Amino acid sequence: MPAQAASISYYAEDVFNAESMREYLPKATAEKLIATISGGAALDPSIAGDVAHAMKEWALARGATHYTHWFQPLTGGTAEKHDAFLDVSDKGEAIMAFSGKNLIMGEPDASSFPSGGLRCTFEARGYTAWDPTSPAFIKRHGNGATLCIPTVFCSYTGEVLDKKTPLLRSVQALNRSVRRLMSCFKQPEARTVATLGPEQEYFLIDKKFYLQRPDLVQTGRTLFGAPPPKHQQLEDHYFGSIKPRILAFMTDVEKELWTLGIPAKTRHNEVAPAQFEIAPIFEDLNLAIDHNMLVMEVLRQVADRHGLVCLMHEKPFAGVNGSGKHNNWSVSYGNHNLLDPGKNPHENAIFLTVLSAIIRAVDLHCDLLRSTTAGAGNDHRLGANEAPPAIISIFLGEQLADVINQIKNGAITGSKRPDAMRIGVDSLPTLPRDATDRNRTSPFAFTGNKFEFRAPGSSQSCAEVNTVLNTIVAESLDYLSERLEKLSTADFNTGLQALLKAVIKEHQRIIFNGDNYSADWVKEAEKRGLPNLRDTMEAIKPLLKPENQDIFVRYGVFSKIELASRYEVYMEEYHRRIRIEGGIAAEIARSLIFPVVTEEYRRVLTALNAAKVAGISHGVEGLRISAELLGKGLDELQRRCDELDEALKGMHEGIIVAMESIREIVDTLEHAVDDARWPLPKYREMLFIY
Ligand code: ADP
Ligand code: MG
Repeated sequence: MPAQAASISYYAEDVFNAESMREYLPKATAEKLIATISGGAALDPSIAGDVAHAMKEWALARGATHYTHWFQPLTGGTAEKHDAFLDVSDKGEAIMAFSGKNLIMGEPDASSFPSGGLRCTFEARGYTAWDPTSPAFIKRHGNGATLCIPTVFCSYTGEVLDKKTPLLRSVQALNRSVRRLMSCFKQPEARTVATLGPEQEYFLIDKKFYLQRPDLVQTGRTLFGAPPPKHQQLEDHYFGSIKPRILAFMTDVEKELWTLGIPAKTRHNEVAPAQFEIAPIFEDLNLAIDHNMLVMEVLRQVADRHGLVCLMHEKPFAGVNGSGKHNNWSVSYGNHNLLDPGKNPHENAIFLTVLSAIIRAVDLHCDLLRSTTAGAGNDHRLGANEAPPAIISIFLGEQLADVINQIKNGAITGSKRPDAMRIGVDSLPTLPRDATDRNRTSPFAFTGNKFEFRAPGSSQSCAEVNTVLNTIVAESLDYLSERLEKLSTADFNTGLQALLKAVIKEHQRIIFNGDNYSADWVKEAEKRGLPNLRDTMEAIKPLLKPENQDIFVRYGVFSKIELASRYEVYMEEYHRRIRIEGGIAAEIARSLIFPVVTEEYRRVLTALNAAKVAGISHGVEGLRISAELLGKGLDELQRRCDELDEALKGMHEGIIVAMESIREIVDTLEHAVDDARWPLPKYREMLFIY
């Protein structure tokens, strides 16, 4: 008999989970709350008082003095405003209080969060409301602890101001549509669960380098830096042995995550030097997203304690791989993952139907999916030659593509079987879960029993991505259900086949199994009419398209006003980020680089004169070349800084071009100036010395 695995005693110790609920709550209340959480039942408001009391007792026992509603505004980060449990009685005694009202609703004066005009038009107040489906947890900070209650965030009039509310609405929409499809297949009532496993990539650099780079401090990426002779070309970092300092960091990260009940599972070196990845075991979608927000926070904080800085920018260093967040998504019904090719004909038919719905959804709304990955940081990554392109397409793998092809052409014969195979009559060939032909270039890849969307950026919240994914898949499932519902039992199989055939014929252009990095694909995609939304400004436009607005409105995920406000927020954020980058680039060029190059020029000229007097011919020649390079460099730097200043008065395109132009000259000068005097840590230092 295998030995019983030792458990980690502190796992989920700081989570108010079913176990702590049963310990701290009256039995009936605990069960009601657990049913709300696990069964998607509506919360009984009468239990709030009991729950609040129990939560407070539990939190106090763990050293918490404060509580906060924890939410996800449109900044892309998380927000918290702490209140102490403290109250003072009439007699002047300190008491620790926390009411049901405190738990259920908060009213932070949140007027400074981006709202895209929503709260100018309506009402400046923001409200937070408890999301009982994501358990409360305790955040520790050295000498104290705070109870964090996951909440949604909306305006007085109910417009959403956060990323969680639309996500929860989309989960509901998906649940309804899955249930509807399952009844077409005469499946018994069961629970639908959308699941997510986000793989998180990040860089770590030594803090002392970071502090000497105003560009990193202000923008999260290096705006200057010549490529080092060795970067990632030897491919010796990927999956390499993890350095002890990094491993110590990772171990601390995992301890914290496990304490928070976050199932961190995988850790490894990534492709670029100083780049790493952490991946959890997949969980319920809403929880997985909350957990990913916490993962990013814990990575940053633990790095700080280790004298490191964790960079989650999508492209902190030019010329080496950027960082993404692979969004592994699937949907299960009851205990069955609908993206798992089944073991019997019935399951196979369901699998192929769901697959066809996803193909249709992604084809119809690839622009919306693309919009969820827009952002100033990700613009440097998408479309670059080591990241998925800005063109959305689906990779199915050879075997599944073959099956889909056969549906399109009529009857399935099975890839390995000569006998005719019809949906619902025979089984699919077994599809190996980890197909050998994994296509790393595809933005949206079927990977055995889930879809992996690779376009999201490392710093981005997964909320929007999955809000869109759930909504468009729900719509496509309904499209199919509506047609299946009209079929008689006798006609079901043939009707289903005809339907899938039609859907695949119409939407097959979205399937691409080739190399997404190749220039040919860009041309081919254009021929197929697939959008190539190259930058943020193009990528967020689909939010305003009437047919996209229509689907969100129909599924109750966003109102038109909410969508328009999001467009405003993302556009403004983009412009602000570019302007900040331009500003800091100008400042670094003028106040750090220019003086150092001037000084170098002066030194070289002095040396040149001395060499002439001494008649050292080779030295004179070298110094003359050097002086010319530095002199011209100064001229150019001055000219390009003036151009950037001018560009900063205008639009983002001009700023981006001017920044690149300055970078070019600064990176050349990096090699012309005495290494000891160069004011910025270099790539060969930051990426390799830690
Ligand atoms: P890779 O080889 O791309 O790193 P893995 O098999 O390690 O892929 O899985 C990556 C992530 O996908 C993990 O977070 C894992 O938990 C998650 N994952 C696995 N199966 C599913 C599923 N059915 N639904 C959602 N996520 C899943
Ligand atoms: Mg991976």
